[in-house]
Amino acid sequence: MWRFAMHRFSSPLPDVQYADVDDAWNFMRTRRRAYRNSLECLRRAVDDWIRAPPLAFIVDLGDMIDQQCEAQGDSRECLDRVLKIFEPAAAVTPVQHLIGNHELYNFSRAECGALIPNITPWYRSFSPAAGWRVLVLDAYDMNAIENGGSQAVEEGLEFLGRHNPNDLRAPRGSVDVTKGLTGLQQRFVPMGGGIGERQLAWIRSELQDASALSERVVVLSHLPMHPAASTPSALLWNFDEALAEFGKAGQGTVVLVMAGHFHSGGYFWDSELGIHHVTLESPLHADPEDARAHCIVEVWPDRMELLGELDSDAIAWELRPRTRDEALQPYLPLTGVLKGLFNLLSRLFGVAVVPATDRGEAPLWHRSVRFYRVVDLKTRASIAGFYLDPFRSERKRDSGGDFWADVTLSYSALLGLGNTPRRPVAHIVGDLEPRLEKSKPTLLSFKQVRSLFRAMGQAVQELLTNQEVGLMAGTKGLEVDFAAFPPRFLELWAYDPATLRSFGGHFESGDPMPEEMIQGIVSSQAFHSGSRLLDEVSLAKIDLDLHSKEESHDITSSGGKGLTSFSGPFSSGYAAGYFIGLWADVLAADAFEAFQEAEGEPEIQELGLRFREAILAPGGGRAPVDAYRSFRGRSPRVAALLRRLGLSSGRPETKAS
Ligand SMILES: [Zn+2]
Repeated sequence: MWRFAMHRFSSPLPDVQYADVDDAWNFMRTRRRAYRNSLECLRRAVDDWIRAPPLAFIVDLGDMIDQQCEAQGDSRECLDRVLKIFEPAAAVTPVQHLIGNHELYNFSRAECGALIPNITPWYRSFSPAAGWRVLVLDAYDMNAIENGGSQAVEEGLEFLGRHNPNDLRAPRGSVDVTKGLTGLQQRFVPMGGGIGERQLAWIRSELQDASALSERVVVLSHLPMHPAASTPSALLWNFDEALAEFGKAGQGTVVLVMAGHFHSGGYFWDSELGIHHVTLESPLHADPEDARAHCIVEVWPDRMELLGELDSDAIAWELRPRTRDEALQPYLPLTGVLKGLFNLLSRLFGVAVVPATDRGEAPLWHRSVRFYRVVDLKTRASIAGFYLDPFRSERKRDSGGDFWADVTLSYSALLGLGNTPRRPVAHIVGDLEPRLEKSKPTLLSFKQVRSLFRAMGQAVQELLTNQEVGLMAGTKGLEVDFAAFPPRFLELWAYDPATLRSFGGHFESGDPMPEEMIQGIVSSQAFHSGSRLLDEVSLAKIDLDLHSKEESHDITSSGGKGLTSFSGPFSSGYAAGYFIGLWADVLAADAFEAFQEAEGEPEIQELGLRFREAILAPGGGRAPVDAYRSFRGRSPRVAALLRRLGLSSGRPETKAS
């Protein structure tokens, strides 16, 4: 574990913004700024940092002094006063200073470089502890405000001019430079700044190195880099380009972006990339009576904790486990995963999946398409069939690398021949990159394994139904929440250690999947599950509100993930039904837990057959609640899902694996 320190109400020490002036209202007159008090906050912070256990570094995120110093003509004195307070701490711990807009109002670049210790190179990286890298960014690489930096300003204005139609060369304050800017365009204002091409290329190469060395990366920037952790006008001009670089480095490389500048602060968890975007409040707004405006960040292998003076101030951010697909993929060859999946179907539902040997058995539309028969192990009868069409192709829609399934021909007594009902046929379609080298097998990501299992869960609803009324067979006539349950149930088996082992190991060496990798997959289910669950609940609630209340909805009220990025109720055909995903998760987790409680293999098989009989066979011809009760012997309970997500203790005995 290692630590670094910063101001609690701002970033490390972002935006001290000291000036020897009386307290005043901010521009919008929404908050009062205590200019002199911010110096007192810093003094107390430094006192504490000196006494704290060893710190790897201290951060000042920029804006140490306010632009008013320039007007008062005491820029140097103000800066000296702030730096003087840092001195005792700086004598024992490196202080990382970043440049903010207020430094540039007061001084030229060259002056900043000369006056502020160790602020150059303007962007730089260092390693505070083994396995960690910190990138210090220069958010004003491109800017339009630099005192005395005519060439830099020229370039900044040129960039801004492409995005902002107002007269940016007019004297500051004489023209409304925000006129006509809406939404995220509001960031294209002179107080902002951007990252130049050379710095972007440097970020790319730093992150490539970090990724290759499996290092975690903390990014420090004066300007916030995610719209959901900031107000639009405070964002880095080209935050999108920077985020794209973070994305290329892969999940779990950049884990934390700390920014200042936006005084109200903000937070957003980018679950896709695993990045916590933290914008710290400014000490300008600290209560003058309570100067405990600073904090220490403790960094552990699995989490970071922002520790305030009070226990209730503590905030913890989990770090995404490093289950890297590159390391995992060799254990997930398509053929091995299919073998494991078919084995699971046989184990659970008493059916064998047999590849069609006769090419004439079913018509095929492409040479990569396979047809399989489903044989009931008890009666030895072929009861259904399905196609597998796994590779990406022009003739298909793009499904983002995932699998999906649908029914080709549904089960029907009426449409059968003679006394034999029509046997159902389904298709499972994938979006896998076609193989480039014939000698190498197709390797899946774990996400693709999950989506294959989920698609199979949908297919078995069609394949194992025996509902004689064709219009009620399979998923036909079935309530949408209940229809979403078997796919999620089967997906849970992709996290089952025994299933993972059944994939047959490394495609080259045959070595079994390492235990720590299996444990990593199992524990990934609980990762950040609390936030994800809250997101889902709040989106489901918004969806229901939208469809049940007459008054208009405040689109800014739902936190970082507002309606602006939530298309569920409008585009997916699930209007007022967003909650069904969560409810299906409850059913899936509760059903899966029955298998974990089972005593040995015979009981698992018995349960599986009961699942087939009670849940899959009746299709839409039986009330879901009756179907579920006859499988589980009781109504569904929420506790199993909470246990699965690591949000509730008292996990039942796991005997299935
Ligand atoms: Zn600023």
